[in-house]
Amino acid sequence: LSQLFRPLDLLGMVYRTIRQGVTDMAAMFELIDTSAEIRDRPGAPPLAVTAGRVRFENVRFGYEGEREILQGIDLDIPGGKTVAVVGPSGAGKSTLGRLLFRFYDVTDGRITIDGQDLRDVTQASLRAAIGIVPQDTVLFNDTIGYNIAYGREDASPDEVRAAARGASIAEFIEAQTDGYDTRVGERGLKLSGGEKQRVAIARTLLKDPPILILDEATSALDSRTEAAILDTLREIERGRTTIVIAHRLSTVVDADEIVVLDGGRAAERGTHAQLLRRDGLYAEMWARQASEREEADDALAAE
Ligand code: ATP
Repeated sequence: LSQLFRPLDLLGMVYRTIRQGVTDMAAMFELIDTSAEIRDRPGAPPLAVTAGRVRFENVRFGYEGEREILQGIDLDIPGGKTVAVVGPSGAGKSTLGRLLFRFYDVTDGRITIDGQDLRDVTQASLRAAIGIVPQDTVLFNDTIGYNIAYGREDASPDEVRAAARGASIAEFIEAQTDGYDTRVGERGLKLSGGEKQRVAIARTLLKDPPILILDEATSALDSRTEAAILDTLREIERGRTTIVIAHRLSTVVDADEIVVLDGGRAAERGTHAQLLRRDGLYAEMWARQASEREEADDALAAE
């Protein structure tokens, strides 16, 4: 009988969580952890991260009952390097991140971290090794300090401040009357999209994971805001194996490799310069987004 009620429990929990304003991807994953589909193999050891090399080997995947979205994807990201995944909307970019976090299991092929198949290690150890900076962080109705420390309850005030500095949000917080005790949310301080992303970055700095998934925001930012965020992102990418899920192309220019996902496959791959020379899909996306950035700048100048 308890089996029967589990889905209802889960639904209630998801509802309560959403009501509290937690749509943070990592928090949702933790919740969905309690759904029965992905289980640890009996006796599975924890993941042992050494270099932090991430490999996707001929990965195929489709959501349940849906068409196959990934049709044989290969990625090889050496420890500490950055791969950016770009491609048309719906190509499956965010899906790659979900698979690495083992929100779903691949249908075929495999994903490994330092040679260990994700399905052979505990989910807790896997998720402890991966930090996610989500597209859109919705904050708790609590203090800004709490929101940064979220996920690392044992963090000291000094560590929270250091993380805020690393995410370039310390000055903003310290300018508030109540500093780190300033409340955020409906009746408190309202943060812009960029500021929320900085909170997410600060959280990730506190977690200090060897592997990072940056799920870039979908909306166009003006170049000034974008440049400021990029500087901060580069800071946290340093020394970590990073997958940038780029809905726009701004974060990809310096990536060690850019993979263009289209039609379930890697249609093009190379560095920014190589891909521009190729004059294919990437070059076309780049030209289109350059004009969108100009429009965002014009709108800012008109304000
Ligand atoms: P965008 O740039 O628009 O965010 P994306 O490349 O990140 O797109 P994904 O979010 O990976 O795309 O989605 C790939 C495809 O899978 C889309 O067609 C989407 O509708 C579908 N999809 C995503 N999540 C689910 C899900 N939970 N169940 C079923 N289909 C899904």
